[in-house]
Amino acid sequence: MGAKGLSLLSGGLDSQLAVRVLERAGAEVEGICFVTPFFAPDAAKKAAAALGIKLHLIDFTDDEIALVENPPHGFGGAMNPCIDCHATMIRRAGELMERLGYDFVSTGEVMGQRPMSQNKQSLGVVEKSSGLKGRLIRPLSAKLLEPTIPETEGKIDREKLLDISGRSRNRQIELAAELGIVDYPSPAGGCKLTEDGFGRKLRDLMEHEGLKNRRLVELLVVARRFRLPDGTGVLLGRDKTENDILKEADGVGTVVAPVNCPGPTALIPQIKSEADLRLAAELVCAYSRCDRLVGDITVRIGNDSSPVPRPYDRAKFKEFQIC
Ligand code: SF4
Repeated sequence: MGAKGLSLLSGGLDSQLAVRVLERAGAEVEGICFVTPFFAPDAAKKAAAALGIKLHLIDFTDDEIALVENPPHGFGGAMNPCIDCHATMIRRAGELMERLGYDFVSTGEVMGQRPMSQNKQSLGVVEKSSGLKGRLIRPLSAKLLEPTIPETEGKIDREKLLDISGRSRNRQIELAAELGIVDYPSPAGGCKLTEDGFGRKLRDLMEHEGLKNRRLVELLVVARRFRLPDGTGVLLGRDKTENDILKEADGVGTVVAPVNCPGPTALIPQIKSEADLRLAAELVCAYSRCDRLVGDITVRIGNDSSPVPRPYDRAKFKEFQIC
């Protein structure tokens, strides 16, 4: 025995099982997690600590943005380029594997678990486009797939790998109990890119400001979004946490906020017209709590402040709301 490798670790059950199954088959395993503004590594960190393995955190944002702009195998149900994303993660893991002199990359994929991205054909596409032929192990379904190089070299005991397939989670749950894995999140759909609402925000950003500004991409996870008639985008905070984030993002746009009553902070990356700017100020007022205020709301726009005349009508902005 004696193979050493990197296992993609999201923190989900299958990714944890893959580590334990490989260890049982004689391998030494470290985790690797790809971090983007759309996927936080909290669960992976927790799982690595529970499994007692080293975790490599890799910033994957530039790769993910490039794939969102041009996904060779298209998108899943939303703006999620899962097949290419997965193949690229595996390729990056393979590059690290080479640098570290390790033997394999592994994943917790289960054949047939996801109809689009985990059928036999997709698993083959991922292996081929990752350039890791023979060095990519799916320990949970390994016996249903061709033996990999570490298996044929006898460095990993193929007999101890598994033949799980399909959508049922029963075998994984039994195996978790057997291997002492007790803490795992319920199965989720994936990263933020798999969410419809998030996809709408992302597409809107792509079409208007573009995805070059990393800070604007990171801000996709917060705030309501509006696109005003002349093309000005407005991010509108939903609570104090989001308002504070938008205030601190002052450098990427103009901050608009009420001065004399409680209300949301807005961030405007690019002002396209004076008319839009007036509308943005009115939008902030429409979401402010001004019932006890006598007179108009004063709104700060950048370094200037000016009153915005009533009435403030939230319904008027529905047609401009992206998400
Ligand atoms: S769910 Fe997100 S992180 Fe996972 S493969 Fe799909 S696009 Fe990539």
